[in-house]
Amino acid sequence: MTTLDTPPMTQSPRMAPSVLAEDPGTQALADAHAQLSHAVEVLGYSPGYADMLGRARRELRVSVPLRRDNGDYAVFTGYRVQHNLSRGPAKGGIRYAAEVSLDEVRALAMWMTWKCALVELPYGGAKGGIAIDTRDYSQSELERLTRRYTTEILPLIGPEKDIPAPDIGTDERTMAWMMDTYSVSKGYTVPGVVTGKPVSLGGSLGRPSATSLGVFHTARFAMEQAGIRLDGATAAVQGFGKVGADAARFLDEAGVAVLAVSDRYGAVHNASGLDITELRAHCAETGSVVGFAGGQPVEPADLLALNVDVLVPAAVEGVITADNAHDVAARIVVEGANGPTTTAADAILRERDVLVVPDILANAGGVIVSYFEWVQANQAYWWTQAEVEQRLEVRMRSAWESVCRTAASRQLTLRQSATVTAVERVTEAHVLRGLYP
Ligand code: NAD
Repeated sequence: MTTLDTPPMTQSPRMAPSVLAEDPGTQALADAHAQLSHAVEVLGYSPGYADMLGRARRELRVSVPLRRDNGDYAVFTGYRVQHNLSRGPAKGGIRYAAEVSLDEVRALAMWMTWKCALVELPYGGAKGGIAIDTRDYSQSELERLTRRYTTEILPLIGPEKDIPAPDIGTDERTMAWMMDTYSVSKGYTVPGVVTGKPVSLGGSLGRPSATSLGVFHTARFAMEQAGIRLDGATAAVQGFGKVGADAARFLDEAGVAVLAVSDRYGAVHNASGLDITELRAHCAETGSVVGFAGGQPVEPADLLALNVDVLVPAAVEGVITADNAHDVAARIVVEGANGPTTTAADAILRERDVLVVPDILANAGGVIVSYFEWVQANQAYWWTQAEVEQRLEVRMRSAWESVCRTAASRQLTLRQSATVTAVERVTEAHVLRGLYP
């Protein structure tokens, strides 16, 4: 759809805050709004329409009381934000991290809307989370917290309404508790209410590594385009959790030497390439990459400036900033994390001809296989891992090619192209449905 008959409105679009905020979530929201503003400008939409696209449809803030193991009580703040529902039920992860804020969840929910539209899933975008440092709590405390949080957001979620999934600090265990809590409230088992569940509870084969496999595919496509052979290429990966560790493994298995990885505790480097299998075993044992005998400790910040072909930020948002973007030596940045590059850094990378594969494309493998899981759960019919991975690759390639085509025809970066493509699709759904009443 190239032209749009949007209703004229007089309200100005919600402008992104222009100053660097204390809350990293506010910076993330500013980045998300800046990306939307650019797409809206390219598409020629009215300011009122832009305002509508930029605002969350529903925002729920909840207090989550927890009875501690020692009998004390603690209360946490949780959120569930549904950004847009025009293309289908809301979809998006649940984050447990100390820094979680309403602005961060708003930004992440908006990116989910664009991501789902970009890879043509019948979903809108959502995100949720609780501000908590999970390291300070036992498994049984986290279970009680998850069950209470699920109960508090119950009015919003459901297999046809809003389907959570894992994100930072949550995993398939968390999804099992959420699924059980929701099912108990209904009186029957509802596997389709969450994705990223254990396979034995209706999860999909291939889901745990799906985001990383998608990151690997887009890294491979970008390297092909840049004329870099995988075998003998080099990479650095920031974050060694669910996304980063498997992304490093896929790169390693394809012959790319992963020279450095980091987590929130530190970083390790090996000029000949880290042994990723041994590093994963070390992490499983100690909980961190720190102390790995197969590499030397380095400053985590130095990882971003390492002279490698591909840099994969796979931790948190706002790590490549105006302060360090000039130091990025990689030719390609593949955003495993959501929002790792600020708007100012993005402009610097563009000037320096660094190819950035944007988050909403690079890490879309997770939500694609979440969609496969939801489809399988709703039909109670399960696919093999090979089928899941083959369908994932087809979708990733198709999204990559579509983003590259639009980038070439409209003279845009891959991020601008991906956002324009997604915003146009969401707008098409809005226009076709019309505005109630
Ligand atoms: P995770 O909790 O499994 O892992 C996060 C990793 O990042 C850990 O190794 C942690 O130590 C590290 N980390 C945290 N802060 C850091 C910092 N400041 N510097 C370096 N490392 C740091 O989380 P995850 O699921 O792997 O998510 C990582 C990113 O990928 C997030 O941005 C998330 O939104 C995004 N993402 C995840 C999925 C998914 O399926 N899990 C899908 C799409 C996008």
